[in-house]
Amino acid sequence: LRLTRPDLDALPNYVPGRSPADLARELGLPEAIKLASNEVPYGPLPGVVEAVAGAAAGVHRYPDMGALALREALSERYGVHVDQIATGCGSVALAEHLVRTTCLPGDEFLYAWRSFEAYPIIAATSGATSVRVPNDAGHGHDLAAMAAAVTDRTRLIVVCNPNNPTGTSVRRAELDRFLDTVGEDVLVVIDEAYREFVTDPDVPDGLTYLDRPNVVVLRTLSKAWGLAGLRIGFLVAQPAVAAAIRKVVTPFSSNMAAQAGALAALAQEDEVRRRCALVVTERDRVTEALRKLVPDVPDSQANFVWLPLGDRAVDFGKACEARGVIVRPFAGDGVRVTIGTPAENDAFLAAAETALA
Ligand code: PMP
Repeated sequence: LRLTRPDLDALPNYVPGRSPADLARELGLPEAIKLASNEVPYGPLPGVVEAVAGAAAGVHRYPDMGALALREALSERYGVHVDQIATGCGSVALAEHLVRTTCLPGDEFLYAWRSFEAYPIIAATSGATSVRVPNDAGHGHDLAAMAAAVTDRTRLIVVCNPNNPTGTSVRRAELDRFLDTVGEDVLVVIDEAYREFVTDPDVPDGLTYLDRPNVVVLRTLSKAWGLAGLRIGFLVAQPAVAAAIRKVVTPFSSNMAAQAGALAALAQEDEVRRRCALVVTERDRVTEALRKLVPDVPDSQANFVWLPLGDRAVDFGKACEARGVIVRPFAGDGVRVTIGTPAENDAFLAAAETALA
């Protein structure tokens, strides 16, 4: 008996970071440290818990399907029209909606590899054909090769900036050239899940490209804004593109608690900036320390760092776990480590030193 699509059998599962409670139990430790999912370690922003609790009183009703209050707040914050915004159940859901909105079966969805591991999964489940363009020797997007890989079947391209999991980023001049070469017939998504951690002034804000009709900027409230568990992300695009996405979004998938939590978080921008600055200071410290062990750690503009360990990646991940630190190995390629609190980072660096000794 076969009730589901046969092609799904070969599809990998999206693998979330391991639970620290699980690992602590296994190791018999009071707690383990999770540096595996690019979360910010400082807890919910002030006011978020109260806002979510307040929203709970209304949960017998459906939420505002258009998330209008949230879109208005985002519109004001980012200087774009509410019609240009769509919200979704995390930016990963919006990425899936973008594939479904642009690609018919056999159409091509082009992205760099390695990049965010959800891209190949959403391509496959949406019937699009994945075209992966290998990163360059510095572990960053090879935009010239990506432009050269565009065909008349290419309907969607993602530029992940900064790139998950390598932390690398593309500069304004390169992105300008890329967009000029690709032209305006293909939708180009700039996935900026980690934008708030960018400190290099040459790394452009995707929102400055919205005068191009084919550019979409994807953002999330999961990382710098500390709402990973509420599942809320948004995109900014031309009104026609945003309207198409709002049609494709699963009805009511920006839930009531998420909308309320996001509004409360957006009121805490000063605190977000303060937290991001702490993360950036630690990112630079951790990078410098790691380079004594692994010289070719690339510069990161995100809240994680990449260790290009190749075949040693999985063993390194296991060695860190044995010391109570959960990181994210990608077999045969490298290990991504989220920046935590200074104490968490110290524990990781001690584990890394032993693992690589
Ligand atoms: N894009 C990138 C590049 C990411 O790294 C992530 C999270 N790992 C997402 C999108 C999705 O984030 P969320 O669904 O939590 O908004």
